[in-house]
Amino acid sequence: MTGPTNTNLPSSKPAPDAAPAASSPEERSLNFLEQIIEADNASKKWGTWGSKEIDRADVPQVHTRFPPEPNGYLHVGHAKSICLNSGLAKKYGGKFNLRFDDTNPAKEEQEYVDSIIRDVKWLGGDFDTGPNAGGLYFASNYFEQMYAFTEELIKKGRAYICQLSGDEVSARRGTPTVPATSPYRDRPVEESLKLLEEMRDGKHPNGAMTVRARIDLASPNFNLRDPVMYRIIHEHHHNTGDKWSMYPMYDWAHGLEDSLEGITHSICTLEFENHRPLYDWFIDAINDGRGPGSEWGMPIHHPQQIEFAKLRPTYTVMSKRNLLKMVEEKTVSGWDDPRMPTISAMRRRGFPPEALRNFVTDVGVTKVESYIDIGRLENAVRDVLNKTTPRTMAVLKPLKVTIENWPEDKVDELDFVINPEDEGAGKRKVPFSKVIYIEQDDFMENPPKKFFRLAPGAEVRLRWAYFITCTGVEKDASGSITGIRATYDPQTRGGDAPVGPDGKPTKKVKGTIHWISAQHAVPAEVRLFDRLFTAEVPGEKTGNYLDDLNPNSLEVVQALVEPWLAANAKYNSETLEGTRFQFERLGYFNVDKDSAPGKLVFNRTVTLKDSWAKEAKPTS
Ligand code: ATP
Ligand code: MG
Repeated sequence: MTGPTNTNLPSSKPAPDAAPAASSPEERSLNFLEQIIEADNASKKWGTWGSKEIDRADVPQVHTRFPPEPNGYLHVGHAKSICLNSGLAKKYGGKFNLRFDDTNPAKEEQEYVDSIIRDVKWLGGDFDTGPNAGGLYFASNYFEQMYAFTEELIKKGRAYICQLSGDEVSARRGTPTVPATSPYRDRPVEESLKLLEEMRDGKHPNGAMTVRARIDLASPNFNLRDPVMYRIIHEHHHNTGDKWSMYPMYDWAHGLEDSLEGITHSICTLEFENHRPLYDWFIDAINDGRGPGSEWGMPIHHPQQIEFAKLRPTYTVMSKRNLLKMVEEKTVSGWDDPRMPTISAMRRRGFPPEALRNFVTDVGVTKVESYIDIGRLENAVRDVLNKTTPRTMAVLKPLKVTIENWPEDKVDELDFVINPEDEGAGKRKVPFSKVIYIEQDDFMENPPKKFFRLAPGAEVRLRWAYFITCTGVEKDASGSITGIRATYDPQTRGGDAPVGPDGKPTKKVKGTIHWISAQHAVPAEVRLFDRLFTAEVPGEKTGNYLDDLNPNSLEVVQALVEPWLAANAKYNSETLEGTRFQFERLGYFNVDKDSAPGKLVFNRTVTLKDSWAKEAKPTS
């Protein structure tokens, strides 16, 4: 039997303006990072300094890292960095590290560490298994080594202890033409070393003093005006406990972390471009005077910092600080609220990791900041789900239909194609009976022209089942519709009219709608999401991103789903993933973690078509 030929079921193919499927790495021209790496490989730039594992000059040497600060959950911007760094290691046969930049105990928590490890693995960032695994590291494990380097820099006259308060430093920072000042800059080395020891031993309160690099108080780049290397923070650290009460600043710590791990290409976002001289200065200052036979030992490895433009999707915010605020103020239900741009929210909502990878690859890497249409991510999700999800039926807003000429107790089992995109997925049985539910939106008592769904006297196809014709409307005392009546055509079983002598179907209907047998239907809560913000760039007008919150970003409906769907709906609390389905005509859905025995909860992952694109340019 052939399937219906005339159907208004929307095609589950991606919308015409869908981003093209990510091209394979061979088809793309090299991005600027790949060009740098290939040039480095050609010149054997890294010599024996490269990845510790690949310690030969004649093989490609690429050692990258993803260095999150564990002060929040990762978002889709981080996904870009993860895929980029792990992807380069994979492409060039190098190594990829996950390193926690855990240098500020005031903002960091174990919960964040755990969630980040889970998210990086979920995205396929293989730092701990496989040929490109470089390992898991914590910046806090280098505190001892960093302290030793600090002593070294003080002894070399390259650093000092400054007892100006934060406010005093600001007041003395100078202007582009007036240098900064510090009365402590030329204090004797011995004095600085003694104070350094006291800092380490926790003898001074927060803010009493800092370690500063002795660089250039007149530099036009203010980052070089004797930047702070350490400040005092009396806080418990998730990894080192109460051992330290002085913690390194990013600029001091980051290059050392990269160096100690043998990182070759230290890839970061553009806002660090102005910090690159500092990154290089610290390593050069340590290496100054090092060499064979020197009292300091051999030079340390000097990685190359390279900047790229952040991923900035529209209709959302990226900064962890802003996301944390929404979590704390309960604007959302948590970091994994399915409307959030976090990786955990996207996993919970049903985004496959492959779709996120395709999206970030497709967006590419550049040196120029620009906003990326969030619709491209949604299209990438549709692309993957279209190929992989079973087609099922659910009714979100049920309207009862009684089939007058159907025998009272008869149940027919109809064949359903599970996924037209995947022949191997096979078929399943779906029960049909006298009372069914259809979508309220699929019926109109007084329809406009071209309404091809159900209306009094009109005939439609029930997906894979029968043609039915509406014969009447049931109303309550207030005149609201409580149900409709219909007859079915026994000749149309499977959803096709019989073929006449001319080889053509004896009749045609324009509309096909989905349905569910009332006696077999399983109730389920379904959560429908819209974008969390109504503005492309939240806060652009008022300066406060919360002003652009979409008050209608969540709609919860009590739906009915078919029994096969209910039987196959699972939530895996280890992988934190729920089964994914297409609900025909309604979108892609997955099982939410709030499901429990006897209580099914689904999230709408994405609609079938990009409804936002449609609104923007109405189709004829
Ligand atoms: P946020 O601004 O969201 O708080 P962050 O940069 O402070 O992020 P980190 O934990 O320091 O967060 O980031 C870890 C890595 O992820 C860094 O290398 C950073 O450059 C990168 N990264 C952060 N945001 C983005 C983004 N939007 N696009 C690409 N990479 C990003
Ligand atoms: Mg940061």
